[in-house]
Amino acid sequence: MDIIHLLPDSVANQIAAGEVVQRPASVVKELLENSIDAHATDIQLVLRTAGKELIQVIDDGQGMSPTDARMAFERHATSKITQASDLFALQTMGFRGEALPSIVSVAEVDLRSRRQEDETGVWLRIAGSRLQSQEATMCAKGTNIEVRNLFFNVPARRKFLKSDQTELSNILTEVQHVALANPGVGFSVTHNDTCLFQLPPGNRKQRILQLFSKTLGQQLIPLGVENDLMKIEGFVSQPEGARKKGALQYFFVNNRYMRHPYFHKAIMECYQDLIADGSQPNYFIYLTVDPSTIDVNIHPTKTEIKFENEPARWHILMATVREALGKYNAVPTIDFDQTDAPEIEPLGAPASALPSEPRVTFNSEYNPFRKTPIMENWQSLYEDFSRATDKPEALPSRMNEESLPSRMATILDDVPDYVEPQSVPVDPLQAVPSVESHKSTFRKYLQVAGRYIVASTRQGMIIIDQQRAHTTVLFDRYYHQICRRQGVTQQELFPEMIDIAKADVPVLESILPTLKYLGFEIDSLGGGSYAVNGKPASLENSTDMHALLMQMIEATREETHGVREQIDRSLALQLSKAQAMPTGKLLSEEEMSQLVDALYDIPEHTYTPDGRLIAVQLTAEELANRF
Ligand code: ADP
Ligand code: MG
Repeated sequence: MDIIHLLPDSVANQIAAGEVVQRPASVVKELLENSIDAHATDIQLVLRTAGKELIQVIDDGQGMSPTDARMAFERHATSKITQASDLFALQTMGFRGEALPSIVSVAEVDLRSRRQEDETGVWLRIAGSRLQSQEATMCAKGTNIEVRNLFFNVPARRKFLKSDQTELSNILTEVQHVALANPGVGFSVTHNDTCLFQLPPGNRKQRILQLFSKTLGQQLIPLGVENDLMKIEGFVSQPEGARKKGALQYFFVNNRYMRHPYFHKAIMECYQDLIADGSQPNYFIYLTVDPSTIDVNIHPTKTEIKFENEPARWHILMATVREALGKYNAVPTIDFDQTDAPEIEPLGAPASALPSEPRVTFNSEYNPFRKTPIMENWQSLYEDFSRATDKPEALPSRMNEESLPSRMATILDDVPDYVEPQSVPVDPLQAVPSVESHKSTFRKYLQVAGRYIVASTRQGMIIIDQQRAHTTVLFDRYYHQICRRQGVTQQELFPEMIDIAKADVPVLESILPTLKYLGFEIDSLGGGSYAVNGKPASLENSTDMHALLMQMIEATREETHGVREQIDRSLALQLSKAQAMPTGKLLSEEEMSQLVDALYDIPEHTYTPDGRLIAVQLTAEELANRF
């Protein structure tokens, strides 16, 4: 018996959907792109439960005839290309004819559409690839599509969806891409009956400012170059606008968002000597190229695009950005043109004989009022800490009394009691150091390599990574602040303003209460702008608040299941890491002692909250083996 047969369309579509429709954001991307292809000038996106319950896109585009509307849900049905060669002259976002059939195979869809020239529109209802009904209807010109209960028939997929705030943020990222690529189109986004934002039509710069921040405007340097290979437009940021985290970096080609690691490198190279290591410039670069010289047909959801002549374009892009930076006087000109300069022999004086500027030297670290000479704030840190931990209120990790370690004393042996040698005759030839001199140089703790604290223990010795220890101590304090719902805030005299991308707003909003317990007072000014009115008292003033907040937003997004406790822990950890002493920090003995005591006051003192080893023990036996 033959065993091979064709799969029914509904099954084939569901398999294809696995590629095209991975999450609510992929549906949003496909629908928005269809509206753009239909020449809409106004697009409304309505969401419920981060798109899990409802994704609705209403456009004022060209609409569909009833027959086309039916056809649109067939596999490989498209109005955008007819033959293979059309692939190399693409003017549209879509061309595969896969999106709608994929979406209807895993959701319940209502579509209403009317063309300008038709009096009545068409209303289709399809669920799991099956047509439920088709009727004529009165509706506005354009297309209105509702996608409900995504993955209602694919529980495995539904289970892999992330928390609402993460899915919503992914959706808004897609909206950002389409909105940046099409600034002439108006957009609005509503989630759970709240309007998240409205973007009136405008030019590229206006769109960038609508989506990100008004303050970004002063930093944008325009680009504009056109040659045979391509047109380059858009903006790069002044070097001062570079960010440690969350830099805004966007490439578009023929109004399609793309990622291009190779072109990204060209831009980074232009900034190489202008910005601090580890920071990144913002850029919004719009390339226009002959469609026959690119290949967008790589993968339905991939955003990488292949270009002909990439190295040549790489150079043009780099030259363009360099020139723009130079025009704005951002690049120091050290490369003097010397071709016409008369040659003058340098004076033959040896360097040491040259007169030099008098120099004033002073110790900028010196502070006559400082008691602990090495680290500021240290005392207060542990005062806070002991206040926070002295209270015996039961807290999750402190409930189990047995797990409380007896303090450092049991682990670290005190200096072995020195037995005063009694009337032992001193043989001067053996040069035994005197008891007094031995005692005065003995240290309980020793700092090694500016990084490790070494102490003698009963069994041998212990080597503690000071930064990890500090992170863990801070984490314990911050996490308990969250559990107790009380944070210590220090009001700022001059609130710092911070702008974040629209896509990050829901994530930040969801963690504001936790941030409050950590000691931040952050107030929304609307439109993604926030005022930091208070910070944790022990946070250093120089901390880059934008970078810290972006780190926290990213950490939240990475918490796949949005479990509150996990997010709280992750936020406490981010703050602790930002605040932990750097490796290389010299510590006084008192500071080492306080740190070690504080560490061994915590039940979980073997590993950092993110699972890294804090201390290594070496037993006397292990030591002996080395000799
Ligand atoms: P593709 O976009 O690759 O052609 P889709 O499955 O996304 O494939 O859409 C199939 C067809 O349905 C499109 O080619 C287009 O003709 C039509 N269509 C989809 N969405 C819209 C819309 N919002 N307005 C008008 N026509 C649409
Ligand atoms: Mg499409």
